[in-house]
Amino acid sequence: MQGMGRAARGRTRFRLYAQPPFVPGYERTELVELGGDALGIGGGPSDARMHVVDALDKTRPYDYPDLPPYLGNTLPGPLPGPDGGFDELAPGTRAFGAAHLYATVRRVLEVWEGYAGRRIPWHFGAAPLELVPFLDWDNAHSGFGFLETGFGAAPDGTLWPFAQSFDVVAHEVGHLLLYSLVGLPEPAALTPSFGAFHEAAADLAALVSLLHFDCVRRRIIESCRGNLYVENELNRFAELSRSTEIRQVSNSVKLGDLKPGSEVHSASLVLSGAFFDILVESYLLRLNQLGAVTEEIVARSRAAGERSEEAPDLAAVLDRALQRRPELFLQALADARDFLGERLALSWLLLPPENMTFRRAAGAFLHADLLLNGHRGNWHWLSGSFTWRGIAPEPPRQARPTLAGQPLRRVPGLPEPFEMQHRCMLRHRRREALAAVPVPIID
Ligand SMILES: [Zn+2]
Repeated sequence: MQGMGRAARGRTRFRLYAQPPFVPGYERTELVELGGDALGIGGGPSDARMHVVDALDKTRPYDYPDLPPYLGNTLPGPLPGPDGGFDELAPGTRAFGAAHLYATVRRVLEVWEGYAGRRIPWHFGAAPLELVPFLDWDNAHSGFGFLETGFGAAPDGTLWPFAQSFDVVAHEVGHLLLYSLVGLPEPAALTPSFGAFHEAAADLAALVSLLHFDCVRRRIIESCRGNLYVENELNRFAELSRSTEIRQVSNSVKLGDLKPGSEVHSASLVLSGAFFDILVESYLLRLNQLGAVTEEIVARSRAAGERSEEAPDLAAVLDRALQRRPELFLQALADARDFLGERLALSWLLLPPENMTFRRAAGAFLHADLLLNGHRGNWHWLSGSFTWRGIAPEPPRQARPTLAGQPLRRVPGLPEPFEMQHRCMLRHRRREALAAVPVPIID
């Protein structure tokens, strides 16, 4: 590792865009601190578990059997500044983009290792994850030893590097974490639901990670004046927050709405929507526990949300409460985020990859709640969120949380490893997948 700075033993500073700067309200970068463990962060950036490889003549995305390491020409990555940080790099430079990709992956990994309460090894073994920031490609993907990002179109028609899109990169890290936490099924036990589960879980991994930005939580609360439930149902919340990930998960798609053989991204909306409703419900319950609103307001807010009704008087009550104690609303959203994150991480450790169904994913989540709480006090409202979508939770077969065995090989019987077939299809997700199901997305 080159150029280890003197801050390597402590936390290392980076600057991240919570959303691309062409999204109104997110024009500025946010300061984040990473590391602080035994893994020092050095030039590239790099550490023992991942490193940026700024490939100069890589003409294609990785595709089995073409796998890391990349052996072509590279540009050297940025070195840490005099105080060991990377926060002085200028946005718009190649060095900043490389550092942005690294810092996003590292931040998402730290968030989810925190929820899982353990180190999450890469599924492909001990080699460092190769991060390729600037590939001539209109997509991003992750797989056996790599995460690489291309370019998308900004609203003004210029190209925007996905390396600087927190949502996109966090979603890809989500897939990598799931390969380790849940694992990969043998071909005979691979269900159509497995791919949809993976997409939903990767969206949720990104959403929960995104909610670790104070600026994102603040903007969401301010945009909907504290009234997440109604705004969620009317979908103004998704529009106002301007996050692609939130737009994905804030939906009202039910299992019965799906056509037979639905594409995985479309089908994933049913599951991610159920978990998003749990986030909103736990936010409301926490608001009440913190003393920001009464139980009656929680009940009325929920009822209005379920009927997708406007309730101006209720909105006014919440608005007044928000003006009195805004910090309680921010706290409630942070607590709801952690409630969801902890349970998701544990549920993924409980879920075997074989014969995956939405019912089992829901059942594992309930069991995770039982393990964390020691009682079933939350089950009625957690179950309600799943059953509203048409998902009847099924208890997990595996009672104890375990990491998946490392699939250090191809999955036999498939033309190539499942993870190598995976493409998140960013453009497809934004257009066709959402149009294929009756999601009230405002575009
Ligand atoms: Zn994906």
